[in-house]
Amino acid sequence: MPTDPRDVVEHLRYYADLGVEGFSRDRAWRARAGTPSRAAAVTPAPEPRAEPASPSLAPHVTAPARSRVEALAIVRTDLGECTRCKLHKGRIKLVFGTGNAEARLMFVGEGPGAEEDEQGVPFVGRAGQLLTQIIKAMGLELEDVYIANVVKCRPPGNRNPEPDEIEQCEPFLMRQMDVIKPAVVVALGKFAAQTLLRTTEPISKIRGRFHQVGDTRVMPTFHPSYLLRNPAAKREVWEDMKAVMGVLRGNEK
Ligand code: SF4
Repeated sequence: MPTDPRDVVEHLRYYADLGVEGFSRDRAWRARAGTPSRAAAVTPAPEPRAEPASPSLAPHVTAPARSRVEALAIVRTDLGECTRCKLHKGRIKLVFGTGNAEARLMFVGEGPGAEEDEQGVPFVGRAGQLLTQIIKAMGLELEDVYIANVVKCRPPGNRNPEPDEIEQCEPFLMRQMDVIKPAVVVALGKFAAQTLLRTTEPISKIRGRFHQVGDTRVMPTFHPSYLLRNPAAKREVWEDMKAVMGVLRGNEK
């Protein structure tokens, strides 16, 4: 986003040319006109233009775009070549998120690992392969879901994200969720679950049941990397995914 007020005006004119009539945080603005095809809704996490790291002068643009794909692109542009927290220093690629902007099911993990950092795509390592298996076992394809992380740059040595890093990055995850409006979010592991639910409860206590966050149901479950170390826990995760499928199929309220 531009920082010069004249550029902000140009920026707003650009969106006006797209048919955007204004910007607001009001939920009424988030109603979407038209539903793009599934293929059109799959967002490959567009590369941003080089942007200044300073916060935008304009208000947060809360998806007044014509489609969720456009709205996600706006969030990505606002994130820019982010230096909001110290994790930017060690990253190769920022991992924004990928998948279907119209997804009814979204997975949220903790942060990128080494392979994700290299490719700029979430969940492409061994844990990602396991997540893909879980998604397919649910009768879905990767193109049906959206996948993102709480922090979008790799913590060095795969350490846990620190509170200040989560605080800086999490608003962009919230905006992604706000755009996609999934019926269910599966929080993968402790950090994703604790961040989304604003709790310090251990994952073992909060997994296995839905938690309401706004209009979205959040199902905390174990992270796939935990399942690689503890294969016996796959059974519990599958029980959680069966509950998720029940909601998606409308068999459970
Ligand atoms: Fe920015 Fe998030 Fe990366 Fe920190 S982790 S630099 S807040 S994108």
